[in-house]
Amino acid sequence: MSDMSPEDKETEVEIINAVRASSDNPVTPTRLTGKDDFCFSCHSGVSCWNECCHGADITLTPFDILSLSRRLDLRPSEFLLEYTVPDMWERAELPVAKMKMSGADGKGACSFMTDEGCSVYDDRPVTCRYYPLGSASVKMKGDEEKQDFFFLVKEDHCQGHKEDKKQTVADFRSEQGVGLYDEVNRGWIDILMKMASWKNLGGPHGKDLAPQVKQMFFMVSTDVDALRKFVFETKFLDTYEIDEETVEILKINDEALLQLGFDWMQNVMFQEETLSLKKTVLQGAIAKARNDLGAS
Ligand code: SF4
Ligand code: SF4
Repeated sequence: MSDMSPEDKETEVEIINAVRASSDNPVTPTRLTGKDDFCFSCHSGVSCWNECCHGADITLTPFDILSLSRRLDLRPSEFLLEYTVPDMWERAELPVAKMKMSGADGKGACSFMTDEGCSVYDDRPVTCRYYPLGSASVKMKGDEEKQDFFFLVKEDHCQGHKEDKKQTVADFRSEQGVGLYDEVNRGWIDILMKMASWKNLGGPHGKDLAPQVKQMFFMVSTDVDALRKFVFETKFLDTYEIDEETVEILKINDEALLQLGFDWMQNVMFQEETLSLKKTVLQGAIAKARNDLGAS
């Protein structure tokens, strides 16, 4: 373990996984790596059983929505309507879907909570899997690469910290099955982090994006059916260079389609070279620019 040091002021840190409950959660200001250990266990015998599944602030990642829709045999649009509320991921000012909690004030129980625990346990969102860990990424000023780390969230009501089950962060993550979620969501998390970093640095951020770009981001984040329709029923494939084999995969593979969506958003929002324009599109744009120059 390593405590936050003064030079950390020189870093750009973004918390990736939202904490499940209120924003005033006490976060232990200690960076944990996979090798560090902590004591925690959650089971139906704890006195606080199910408490954390009330009024929880759960931002749903693209893979959460995909997994839960499959689990419930719903299309993502049906899942969104029934179980989520549209919201804003404040740190980046980007629209996201959050898990709907019951009650007029949203402080009631999660739709999937039962006396026995979570009714969608095998497909629960990644935020629920991580709890009571949060994950974050740090980039030292001047460094190219980000480093991922973890931290512990200790809320007063959570008795799990008093249990004597000791485990490493790596073992906990493996037991909770977060690896696949992190892998599929990586491109999406990068987008959130980049926007949040820009906002921290006073640069352009979510509120400066055109409403259409935000709508596209929301579509990519929440609804693979709508994304597939967009890719295959607009001029998308005439615009971007995507080989035929990949096109065939995109027709049937939702995870691959998500990756394309994230690449597309990185290209649209940050002009990154994650997708290439077709030569004909480039030539057309150059010809138009020449014409415009000649006309002026
Ligand atoms: S999805 Fe399951 S674990 Fe997560 S808040 Fe709802 S009931 Fe609790
Ligand atoms: S121990 Fe913590 S995670 Fe488990 S039910 Fe209690 S509050 Fe929730």
